[in-house]
Amino acid sequence: MKMKKATSNATSAEKSPPKKTLNRTIRIIFTVLALLIILGFGTGTAMLISYVKDAPTFDPQMLKPAETSYLYDSKGNEITRLYQEQNRTVIPISNLPEYVPEAFVAIEDERFEKHFGVDFIGITRALVVNITKKDLVSQGASTTTQQLIRNAFLTPEKTLKRKIQEAWLSIQLEREFSKPEILEMYLNTIYFGNGAYGIEAAAETYFNKSASDLSLAEGSMLAGFVCAPNSFNPFINEEKAQNRKKTVLRKMTSLGYIGTNEAKSAREEELKYGELKSREYPYSYFIDYVVHHELTRILSETALLGDKEAAYHAIYTQGLKIYTTLDTELQAHVEETLKRKDKYPTTTYINMDKFKAAYQEAGNKLPRDYPKAYIDEENGVPQPQAAMVVANPQTGAIRALGGGREYRKNKDEVLRFVSKRQPGSSIKPIVSYAPAFEEKILAPGSIVYDVPIKIGNYAPRSWDGRYWGPITVREAIRWSRNIPAVSVLHMVTPGKGTEYAERMGISSFSEDDRGSLSVALGGVSGISVMDMCQAFATVANEGVKKPLHTVSRIEDRDGEIVFEQNAAGEAVLSPQTAYMITNILEETHRTTFTGNRLYIDRPVAAKTGTTNDDRDTLLAAFTPNLISYLWMGYDYKDMGRIRGGHGLTTSITRDVFKKAFEGLEKISFESRRPSGLVTMEICKLSGLKPTQLCRDANAVVREIFTPQTAPKETCSDHVEVEICQASGLLRGPYCPDEDVTKEYFYTGKHSEDKPPKEKCDVHTGPSEKITSFAAIWNPVSRSVTLSWSISSSSNIKEFKIYRGSSNEETTLLASINAQTLHYTDARDLKNDTEYTYFLYMVDKQNNQSEPATARVKVPSASLSLSPPTLSLPENSKEKEVALSPVLLWRGSPGATSYTVEVASDDNFSNIVFDSTVKITMITVTPPLEEGKIYCWRVKSNNENGSSQWSSVRSFKTKQISPSELSLYNRFVVKTHFLAISWKIYPLYTRPHHLSVTTVTPISPSSG
Ligand SMILES: [Zn+2]
Ligand SMILES: [Zn+2]
Repeated sequence: MKMKKATSNATSAEKSPPKKTLNRTIRIIFTVLALLIILGFGTGTAMLISYVKDAPTFDPQMLKPAETSYLYDSKGNEITRLYQEQNRTVIPISNLPEYVPEAFVAIEDERFEKHFGVDFIGITRALVVNITKKDLVSQGASTTTQQLIRNAFLTPEKTLKRKIQEAWLSIQLEREFSKPEILEMYLNTIYFGNGAYGIEAAAETYFNKSASDLSLAEGSMLAGFVCAPNSFNPFINEEKAQNRKKTVLRKMTSLGYIGTNEAKSAREEELKYGELKSREYPYSYFIDYVVHHELTRILSETALLGDKEAAYHAIYTQGLKIYTTLDTELQAHVEETLKRKDKYPTTTYINMDKFKAAYQEAGNKLPRDYPKAYIDEENGVPQPQAAMVVANPQTGAIRALGGGREYRKNKDEVLRFVSKRQPGSSIKPIVSYAPAFEEKILAPGSIVYDVPIKIGNYAPRSWDGRYWGPITVREAIRWSRNIPAVSVLHMVTPGKGTEYAERMGISSFSEDDRGSLSVALGGVSGISVMDMCQAFATVANEGVKKPLHTVSRIEDRDGEIVFEQNAAGEAVLSPQTAYMITNILEETHRTTFTGNRLYIDRPVAAKTGTTNDDRDTLLAAFTPNLISYLWMGYDYKDMGRIRGGHGLTTSITRDVFKKAFEGLEKISFESRRPSGLVTMEICKLSGLKPTQLCRDANAVVREIFTPQTAPKETCSDHVEVEICQASGLLRGPYCPDEDVTKEYFYTGKHSEDKPPKEKCDVHTGPSEKITSFAAIWNPVSRSVTLSWSISSSSNIKEFKIYRGSSNEETTLLASINAQTLHYTDARDLKNDTEYTYFLYMVDKQNNQSEPATARVKVPSASLSLSPPTLSLPENSKEKEVALSPVLLWRGSPGATSYTVEVASDDNFSNIVFDSTVKITMITVTPPLEEGKIYCWRVKSNNENGSSQWSSVRSFKTKQISPSELSLYNRFVVKTHFLAISWKIYPLYTRPHHLSVTTVTPISPSSG
């Protein structure tokens, strides 16, 4: 080390400076005065003195390498050490090309040669800037001397006190050392990021060469990013580093260090970077998060340190003891599980640098030659990817972090659990339902409507494009219905919903998100896995948000606690709200496919999520003392889809849970049920108290409510309706029983399945018809014979016959079995009365058909007897008949016998033949004279003694030869037989006796 140590023991402020010149003294006084002016004279002076008094003692010994920090796991075992790179080599300033120190001076401290440790002009300029920004102690113009002092003696705390102490010590440093010495110390201690301290280590790290060989371009790039080594270094952002390099070159040109040609060639020089050294620590995803996210955040928020750069620097130099929540076994298991190819739908190794460039070139679209042109089995990044956070929701301690499938040591690996992703439907309980429960708008048994809605221009749809009508909130969450989630957020308002979600742990809502209903479906600018896990952890921990963390405690090099994770949480949701959400998610886990595949030995609540077109798939799963949130998808969402994602996320979660639950107490959610909830039966369509009809309709469920949301009224919207299955319509009178079922309909708001209004159009009449029905009066037996026919008898149980007349009430005559199609009515029939018979069919369902009717008249005793009509022989005097003629007549209704008279004159004073017969013919026996005219008549008699004479007819006998006679007799015999056979035929069947009515039953609708 060429750096000279001061010969004198110049350690205190009071000691008079050995190299003091008048010029310097004047400048010091001037500066102090300036500071007094800045502070205000009175109190300012007192403050200044006390600050300077408190300043650490100036000791050049302290310009030494920093101390190593230690990282411990959750059991207090050391995981790794964080320290400066060991290749830190001090290089004399004389070994550097001139332009290297010049570049640093130009960009960091252009008046380096002129100031005395504090750059008054720079301070003034910065002050003006800061005052206009109303911030007195933010970034000021620190000289290289001040930076050196800060690194060695002070923490980079940004208070006025520190600034003054820094200035004070800087002035002392300037008195002890020459300018080149100070610059050399500066160049050899400054931090360049990636563990490189000092210009030599930086040259090695970034350009794989000694600092003495740095080109102007390389030197100016290093000088450029030294102010913010973790954001501007070329490994993180080459473009920024290049721009910064150009700034340095411009500055060097303007200060006259280099010419424009040199600057030009340096600008255009192509830089060859070194390979980034592999990180040596294990559990890289976890420790990367600890160091780059949580530690830097915690430390930069402490009063000690001002910003991330300072914090990051402190991690490697301050000898901190950092206690983490890491569960090394689980972490190793998570890393291993996420690495397994069988946990992904496919695996393709993609050269991401090449892909990113092509993606941008294509205008942020998938390049046409994807994936073929980007496959790189050796150095590619496996796709799709996954990220997972496993934590204890009761304490917020993160036990394991999965940041991807394979940690790549040579590249800055992405911590995918902090990248913003689309949460898909997994956000529904967080942004819609939990806020609605908390606001006492809804409870799990409240009814929401899965019906077409349009709010503004927003018309959400569910994945299946269907609408389920009224459903309970529980069902809406279980089946992840989109429309209810949106309408619930509409009720709560997006502003309030996102506000709750924010308090539960979502930190990245944009202004647009806060006003958008599509947030309910995960349509957000992006939410990290970490944030989603935090939000669900809040639910899992009975509504109390315990911040997820990896750092539990930090001690400084003296063992003093610098930071300790605050055990108190923030109550974001009531325990009732948290319980209700958990209860639904637990049931979902048990009853949907997700649950079947998790196979966990204890109650677990779970919510899946999928984004549009299956780009991402997500799964939140928790018990009271364990939570995990898992994302699977491609690093660029256009790269592919995750089909069947739920099976994959569940499979990973199950494997991780198995390990995570080892030795973990089983706690049921039920054991944590808070008071203040009511369980009651409700009608699951109306959301009201159920009736027997709701019960019969199978619409009764047990549900949880808060007193404010519990229903007070009773359902009146369920109805029972008989439906004919043949038509799906209301039962009609002819629908057979076997086709009819009782169905229950919900007729309330948004009922999807209203009962039909129409009656059955299949069974419009009875299938059995009476096709004829006749009633015949039988005078001989004084009875009425009824006979009928039907189209089919299959469904007929019996017939019923009623009789009525003008004098008699219609009464039931008889019930007759279905096989008999006739009936004889002999019951008390009155003469001269018209009777009406009604024939009903009764089917097996006891339906009675419309009647068929038949009428019959019982003739009157006297008047009903009509005269016989004579037919043979013809009434003709010319026509000759045999001497023994056959007389024929047509009988009369009601006649029981006929009296025939034949006379030789037309007034029947001289009767030659008479006889009484029961039939309607007679053969007149001789003696009749040949060739003479006779008259004949017939009287019909009935049993009452009434009689009626027919009209009179005549015939003329003929002279017949014996041969003719024999022929004639033969004819008579034959005719006689014919007559007999004719006579046997029942009288009442002859047409003029009958009154037949065939009735087609009347349609019931007209009745
Ligand atoms: Zn009901
Ligand atoms: Zn029917």
